Amino acid sequence: MKKIEISIFWYRRDLRLEDNVGLKSALESGLPVLPIFIFDDEILEDLPKNDGRLTFIYTSLRNIHLKLKNKNSSLLIKKGNIGEIWKALITEYDVKKVFFNRDYEPYAIKRDQKITTFLESKNIEVRNFKDQVIFEKNEILKADGKPYTVYTPYKNKWLEKFKQNPFTVEDENNLDWDSFYNYEMLFPSLENIGFVKSKQKVQPVNLSVISDYDLNRDFPAKNGTSYLSPHLRFGTVSIRKFVMIALERNAVFLSELIWREFFMQILFQFPKVVTHNFKSKYDGIKWRDSKEDFKRWCEGNTGYPLVDAGMRELNETGYMHNRVRMVTAGFLCKHLLIDWRWGEAYFAEKLLDYELSSNNGNWQWAAGTGCDAAPYFRVFNPALQLKKFDTNLEYTRKWIPEFDLGYSEPMVDHKFARERALSAYKIGLQQ
Ligand code: FAD
Repeated sequence: MKKIEISIFWYRRDLRLEDNVGLKSALESGLPVLPIFIFDDEILEDLPKNDGRLTFIYTSLRNIHLKLKNKNSSLLIKKGNIGEIWKALITEYDVKKVFFNRDYEPYAIKRDQKITTFLESKNIEVRNFKDQVIFEKNEILKADGKPYTVYTPYKNKWLEKFKQNPFTVEDENNLDWDSFYNYEMLFPSLENIGFVKSKQKVQPVNLSVISDYDLNRDFPAKNGTSYLSPHLRFGTVSIRKFVMIALERNAVFLSELIWREFFMQILFQFPKVVTHNFKSKYDGIKWRDSKEDFKRWCEGNTGYPLVDAGMRELNETGYMHNRVRMVTAGFLCKHLLIDWRWGEAYFAEKLLDYELSSNNGNWQWAAGTGCDAAPYFRVFNPALQLKKFDTNLEYTRKWIPEFDLGYSEPMVDHKFARERALSAYKIGLQQ
């Protein structure tokens, strides 16, 4: 029997039906659309089976599947080597066109190039789309054609360009449901795929905080931030929708969404940042390779309450408040003089919202080695940060239950550590 010709929409980090640019185009392709997701063995290799991100991805995929099932369609789930899966897919189905949204991380860029070349060699049309950002790649450049490396002028250009490029946000109800491939398949269970349900949960987005975001966002006990980050990471919400909300409600919130794109374009334009200091003048810094000190930091046993509370929040929930991320990161790089790459890797392992571009950009900011980073001689005083941002010790007591029973001494004296850091940076700069 002749197979029917289809289009495939390849889900990756855009796990939603609503306002999904690539999916919408696929549905306009004139052929029935088979949506698929592939769990990539190469990525899974480095993750524990009960990783919170895997459970979140799985749940998000199941939500999509259940909606499709109502319309007599399905989401096809595969797991394995990406290249092998694609070979099998085009044998099993008569695939004429493939659609996906662009991903700007170095690994993804390579993977997508490889798959595109393969599919095109089989005469399959491949189309990719901008979806996870408002502006990508070379869309925001300086007058001389070079990328911005300082945030404020980048943001101004972003806003200027944004005014000239109005867009609409597509409602899920307006989807052309009849254009999905008409078939029903069983959806695998989490265990079937080989995962174990995680105890950690991604918080739902909290829209109610956005209006007063600028007033509350710096106080970890206030729950004043949106919890949007894992949702943007995996695309369970549309960035366009949240930019529209930010425009209406809070300019500072919008600025944060622009920071996200700033770091994404930095990673795209300067992929060396993954392993190297953005500013190579800092390459001479001699980091202390103290595994023992690093372990105390990881476990939240530094004797600095705000640092410890943050690390414990991270270890338990997979989330840490932004102010506390800044303090814990600064502490590792400056007070302990440990390479920002160690801290970055630890956050990457633990954060449910882990995003290479934001994590790397912010770690290099904290270390003073990044683009538009805090100057190296600015060393947060963790005790003062505590006083200012957790005045009533509410956040601290939440994560350090033994706090009032006599808390341990700081593992390093602030004044001593500050001077040690300044001197190591100065010497490093002279190398
Ligand atoms: P909100 O305060 O509600 O902010 C809304 C959104 O704006 C966030 O979801 C995020 O998309 C964006 N945003 C906010 N602050 C930043 C920022 N400084 N840089 C880039 N985007 C920002 N964010 C990640 O998404 N993934 C990471 O891996 C990550 N690692 C970080 C590591 C360090 C050392 C630091 C200091 C910050 C890091 N951030 C990271 C940025 C920020 O801490 C988180 O985005 C934020 O805490 C997420 O919580 P929220 O969604 O409630 O934030």
